[in-house]
Amino acid sequence: MPEQAAKYALALHGGAGAKPGEDYTQVEAHLEELAVTGEAMLKGGTAAVDVAEKMVCELESCGLYVAGKGSAPNVAGQVELDASIMDGATKNAGAVAAIRDVVNPVAVARGVMEHSASVMLAGEGARSFALQQGFATVEHAASYYVLPVGVSADDVAVNEMQHGTVGAVVMDMHGNLAAATSTGGVFGKPAGRVGDTPIVGIGTWADEDVAISCTGTGEFFIRAGGALTAANRFRLAGDTLAEALWHMLDDVAGLGGDGGVIAVSQSGEIAMAYNSDGMKRASVSSGRSPEVAVFEPCR
Ligand code: ASP
Repeated sequence: MPEQAAKYALALHGGAGAKPGEDYTQVEAHLEELAVTGEAMLKGGTAAVDVAEKMVCELESCGLYVAGKGSAPNVAGQVELDASIMDGATKNAGAVAAIRDVVNPVAVARGVMEHSASVMLAGEGARSFALQQGFATVEHAASYYVLPVGVSADDVAVNEMQHGTVGAVVMDMHGNLAAATSTGGVFGKPAGRVGDTPIVGIGTWADEDVAISCTGTGEFFIRAGGALTAANRFRLAGDTLAEALWHMLDDVAGLGGDGGVIAVSQSGEIAMAYNSDGMKRASVSSGRSPEVAVFEPCR
């Protein structure tokens, strides 16, 4: 019998805060470029967790999304960032919450996963850890941070709770899964506010069956049980991958929130869902070219 070609799959999101009428051409081009880069890494045998981290680092560093460089200050004038990463093969996870001054919060989250006995570090402790470990820091916050595509100074001024996040879910050629998520949170947030993104099991989850990354108004995802609730619906309740995501999102909507979620399963299936106006997203898998979308419906 001919040997079956190894499979891989990758999905990315750039947040579910997309606004109708905005021009996301640049975002779409960037997401496509990243999908091509991620696919090349996967074809070369790179581990899912490395691809997830690399994708999210790129999304954080470019300033096009509400994460990393595209994040805005909280009401106290400080930029506080949240991120998490999980390796499904080992169930290792790392997270940082309300961390300041780092260029790539997801890389620090990976550092917490690999070089500490903790799963999550927050605030000043997270920042000290990042400095000790030599992670890149932002020298001049006033000139470093930019408003991402689709967010205007007026939005921020009137505090419309503009929000966004970036995330990646990956299955590598060895059949291992990983997920990573990073955010600047919601604009106008109080100092110390932490959403769903850095909470392992809510904003991010990966195990041997499924990897999931969420985006949306974090408070509602926390209250709806987030990523692990969808993972368990898929693993234990017999839902298809898409049904599992929609069930969790419907719970978010029932509580008054909105957002989106992306997932990949161990069979290489990709599912995406959102109940906001749009979700910036891209996907690629073995035998299928990269696809990018913002407003096209998923269901
Ligand atoms: N989930 C993020 C938060 O609440 C925001 C977003 O995904 O748009 O911090």
